[in-house]
Amino acid sequence: KRSMACSRFEYVKSFELDDSILPNVWIVIRIDGKKFHKFSKAHDFEKPNDENALNVMNAAATAVMQEFRDIVLAYGQSDEYSFVFRKETAAFKRRAAKLLTYVTSLFSSSYVMQWPKWMQLPLAYAPCFDGRVVLYPSEQNLKDYLSWRQADVHVNNLYNTAFWKLVLEKGLTNQQAEAKLRGTFSADKNELLFQEFGINYNNLPAMYRKGTILLRKRVILGEKSRQAVVPLHEDLISSQFWKKHTEILGK
Ligand code: ATP
Ligand code: ATP
Ligand code: MG
Ligand code: MG
Ligand code: MG
Ligand code: MG
Ligand code: MG
Repeated sequence: KRSMACSRFEYVKSFELDDSILPNVWIVIRIDGKKFHKFSKAHDFEKPNDENALNVMNAAATAVMQEFRDIVLAYGQSDEYSFVFRKETAAFKRRAAKLLTYVTSLFSSSYVMQWPKWMQLPLAYAPCFDGRVVLYPSEQNLKDYLSWRQADVHVNNLYNTAFWKLVLEKGLTNQQAEAKLRGTFSADKNELLFQEFGINYNNLPAMYRKGTILLRKRVILGEKSRQAVVPLHEDLISSQFWKKHTEILGK
């Protein structure tokens, strides 16, 4: 480093672009597993939801929140996680590439470290995650972003639950199950689960239906209270959620 400084080579540093994020916006970083359709097959995930695979995701995201204190909320479902930085964060001088690469690489390495705590099979190959930075200028945009991700898990999970019931319990082929569900509405899938399998969709585990929200809360441990990252599986589309957890928006 020292030999580079003040050398005739140093001008190349000026080719680096300034990627500082503008002030006063919510910074959201979303990571998503690369080809997890294949990864989940290679590691025998239970269908439609492997609880322990979700636990690995949640534990990796918790590690990210413990390291980056300016993340006020994280939301995860399937092979993805979104991290929301507080509006005023000055972490890494708000440099987009630094924020994105630190979060994505810490998530990936934590995923690998957490894996053996939850999963039976050893990792067959190194999983990797893509990442993107998205900026939201208003509270409503941020709430709508998170609602969009939670609506996504609802649609996918209802479909996948019906699909895998038809395949695993009724012996339909993948193509037959797909054909049976084609063009159906949510109400039809709820009805099919209830009529043919006696399942009330709303009674399935909340983590599968709602995803996982990680928040910082004061928890009592013994005599002392301290901050901890806690998982919730609540409906964040409802305004109740935002009234209950006012600390997220800094109110
Ligand atoms: P930053 O987070 O800003 O990058 P840093 O501590 O990583 O901080 P660098 O300028 O990247 O700072 O320097 C990396 C440091 O890591 C070196 O100064 C050296 O102390 C240490 N290091 C890295 N690789 C080796 C190695 N192979 N053997 C011994 N020390 C090493
Ligand atoms: P891409 O590289 O484009 O993201 P992908 O195969 O990862 O491709 P996604 O849309 O991200 O596609 O979907 C992730 C897939 O991973 C899901 O469709 C599902 O098959 C699988 N998956 C992820 N987590 C679990 C889990 N906990 N249990 C079962 N399957 C899972
Ligand atoms: Mg270095
Ligand atoms: Mg370094
Ligand atoms: Mg993707
Ligand atoms: Mg993926
Ligand atoms: Mg995905």
